[in-house]
Amino acid sequence: MGFVKGLKCRECGREYAIDPIYVCEFCFGPLEVVYDYDGIKKVLTREMILSRPQTLWRYRELLPIDGEPTSGLHSGFTPLVRADKLAQHLGLKKLYIKDDTVTHPTLSFKDRVVAIALSKAREFGFNTVACASTGNLAHSVSAHGAAGGFKRFIFIPASLEHSKIIASLAYGPNLIAVDGNYDEVNRLCSEVANKYNWAFVNINIRPFYAEGSKTQGYEIVEQLGWRTPDAVVVPCASGSLMTKIWKSFKEMKQIGLINDMQTKIFSAQATGCSPIVKAIKEGVDVIKPVRPDTIAKSLAIGNPADGFYATQVIKESGGYGEDASDNEIIEAIKLLAKTEGIFAETAGGVTLASAIKLIEKGYIDKESVIVLCITGNGLKTKEAIVGHTVEPFHINPNLKSFEETLKKIDSV
Ligand SMILES: *Cc1c(COP(=O)(O)O)cnc(C)c1O
Repeated sequence: MGFVKGLKCRECGREYAIDPIYVCEFCFGPLEVVYDYDGIKKVLTREMILSRPQTLWRYRELLPIDGEPTSGLHSGFTPLVRADKLAQHLGLKKLYIKDDTVTHPTLSFKDRVVAIALSKAREFGFNTVACASTGNLAHSVSAHGAAGGFKRFIFIPASLEHSKIIASLAYGPNLIAVDGNYDEVNRLCSEVANKYNWAFVNINIRPFYAEGSKTQGYEIVEQLGWRTPDAVVVPCASGSLMTKIWKSFKEMKQIGLINDMQTKIFSAQATGCSPIVKAIKEGVDVIKPVRPDTIAKSLAIGNPADGFYATQVIKESGGYGEDASDNEIIEAIKLLAKTEGIFAETAGGVTLASAIKLIEKGYIDKESVIVLCITGNGLKTKEAIVGHTVEPFHINPNLKSFEETLKKIDSV
């Protein structure tokens, strides 16, 4: 099996054989996986997908591995939640949450990309995996790398949330905390990747890794009844997830799983790190790198690798972008929790807060079918809302004390 034809440079179109490489030798453009879509069209039907287990591997013909998957066998197929209470609050008709806070083994969308990256690393014969992470990737590579018996080198900015560092350490990786921001960690990792023969999931394995994000798009379409939504709001770090959701919709149309696709793609970023949204608002193609300063650490990439391509997707689809301040992020986290019972990490707050602005400003039609991508669980960034929630009521262990408190609660 396997429908991968090879790798191709996004800029000059030069083709390469399948190898752990990521950049064109001639023009330095990024490499992307090319598939035999005619071949896929002949074998992959809705019925076949529906007959398979509810994991991201149900779309395996559209993913870049040759043999059987060996990682992330339980990842993906997260719920698409019809969010009627939140919709009512915002004056919307049909609002859905793509809820990647649950179902995934490490509770963020990064389990999608890691499933493909580690399956591919195994096919290439690597026994060490590595990554440069803003937090969730560290957690995911630590976990799935442990399950796969890989040696693991995980590079993170030392200033990451404590919860995410502990969550990664539990799996016993070699965790390297770098005194610097993500962009500095990433630069260091490019040097390390050149020197050591490791599978760096988001460097030399990146063309394969990034394809895993398409599964979020496939699932949205399938769960909507083989239909694309009118609007999707996507949180952007490197911009990769956004470009891959767009690609997934196009592919489904190309292989005949859907007849029509009309979706506007919207970017959500934190005001303290919004190079992609800034370019969109200013109407320019050049992404100006920034120094991140935001509580949304999982999105804190100041120099986004796929930023340019993300702006192209926004333009091509007719979407736009918005950004949210730290305060707006916290308020949105609480709103989502209170209306839908979904506790999201800071990136989820960014998505909802930005979506609210896009709706208020008229970029997103209130009558349309809207999907918000909520990409990580709130337990991973609890620190962010400490001091911003209601307080518990402290009582003595007797009925009298409880009823005195109850009176106070009733009278508010
Ligand atoms: C990594 C990540 C994203 C998106 O990252 P891209 O680099 O833009 O693909 C979104 N949300 C969360 C929680 C993440 O960890």
